[in-house]
Amino acid sequence: NNKGKLIIAAYRLPFKIVYQNNHRELFQNSGGLVSAVLSLSTQKNYPFSGNISWVGHSENTALELQELTHEAGPIDAIPVTIPAEINALYYEGFCNDLIWPLFHYFPSEANFDKTYFEAYQAANQLFADKIAEITEPGDTIWIHDYQLMGLPALLREKFPGNTIAFFFHIPFPSFEIFRLLPVSWRKYLIDGILGADLIGFHTNDYVRYFLGTVQRLYPQYEQRLHYLNLGNRLVEIDAFPISIDFNKFDDAYQQPEVVKIRTEIKQHIPHKIIFSVDRLDYSKGLLHRLIGYELFLENNPGWRGKVTFLMVVVPSRDTIGQYQQMKTETDMLVGKINARFGEINWQPVIYQYRSLPFEELAAMYSASDVALITPVRDGMNLVCKEYVASRHDNRGVLILSEMAGAAAELSEAILINPTDNDDTANAIQRALEMHPDEQEGRMKALRQRLRIYDIDTWTNDFFAQLSSLETEQERLK
Ligand code: UDP
Repeated sequence: NNKGKLIIAAYRLPFKIVYQNNHRELFQNSGGLVSAVLSLSTQKNYPFSGNISWVGHSENTALELQELTHEAGPIDAIPVTIPAEINALYYEGFCNDLIWPLFHYFPSEANFDKTYFEAYQAANQLFADKIAEITEPGDTIWIHDYQLMGLPALLREKFPGNTIAFFFHIPFPSFEIFRLLPVSWRKYLIDGILGADLIGFHTNDYVRYFLGTVQRLYPQYEQRLHYLNLGNRLVEIDAFPISIDFNKFDDAYQQPEVVKIRTEIKQHIPHKIIFSVDRLDYSKGLLHRLIGYELFLENNPGWRGKVTFLMVVVPSRDTIGQYQQMKTETDMLVGKINARFGEINWQPVIYQYRSLPFEELAAMYSASDVALITPVRDGMNLVCKEYVASRHDNRGVLILSEMAGAAAELSEAILINPTDNDDTANAIQRALEMHPDEQEGRMKALRQRLRIYDIDTWTNDFFAQLSSLETEQERLK
């Protein structure tokens, strides 16, 4: 095989070094992409040569990382150093105070600060410079997510002959939202992404919105199905719904530690359990969810005392004002519901603000009768897929927001509009009262789909598409 190495660019490196008791230890970040890439690297027909180079922002030095990752496996971690002042305006600013809210349809939370945009360009350039140091002919560069939209074009300019792929992990919004950006920013972002050969999104809707935006900006580019002809280059835009390590969650069902925790949970909560877990984020619909649950309790006095909502919120971005405020509102609403309906021996909501180790997460998934996953907007949402994979017993009901990318694949869930409180309340009742046979029918269908389309299929699918695109580009030359 004449392919060079694979270079991955993502805001975060897959490892970080943690100092403990005077010695350094390497920690692997959890997250779908890291496991996808690790499993790709061990495949028999791995299409690239040598180690994978992963370029990402890090506070650790190249030397420290080299020493520790040397024996850690097939990934070489290559840090990009972004000065703290730039990083604050770039990452907390442009990425998380503008693009994140805007692309999740919260334009009122978005801050269109000029210094953010300058820092974004500077940071993307730092990534480009670092990658330029290691790129050789034949290498394939795979760039990830909204932090690096400018990067494909910066690299295309320097390496016209290399294959560049891009994957976008959050929603791509309709043009009416995208156009709220200043004209020159729009152009920088779209030109940036179009530097890639293959551009992947989670759903067909995001593909359509992206193509629609390109059409508005560049009506001269010919669009044929999923292809764009830029005049000198063919670009493909397609949907690749990211998935999970199905077997890991499926196997966890019988793992002794998980069984033990599940048994404890069921002992402590001797009735129906509704479960949710999300990062603290306004896109996750936590307040709407609580209001929907409150309405359910109001409408269904017979269920009071017989159901508990176990709501886990994982701390995230809590140095940002908006997020602190959301935390306060969530705390207050939980308190209000518990005060309104609680009894000596029954608490309607058990609320935890912390992160969960894997075994505990798997136990909560498999202990609960209903998963209530209701983001008001979510690029994909992996929690709902993990819930399904955890149900080795084919039981449990998934209530899922139609605003999650995953809804496009998980049609056997009860799909709801998360801002319609009546819809949420009714879905909870329906889920709690669903006959076990119907639960099993739906869960089996959902599981079958995810068992086939797991994280390995996702990666393979993406690279298979990339390889046929390369063939097509070659043919057109
Ligand atoms: N998760 C986690 N820590 C926890 C609980 C969950 O890292 O304490 C994981 C969860 O297993 C899932 C991910 O966080 O894989 C959340 O992904 P999702 O796509 O649902 O939402 P995101 O947080 O990426 O917006």
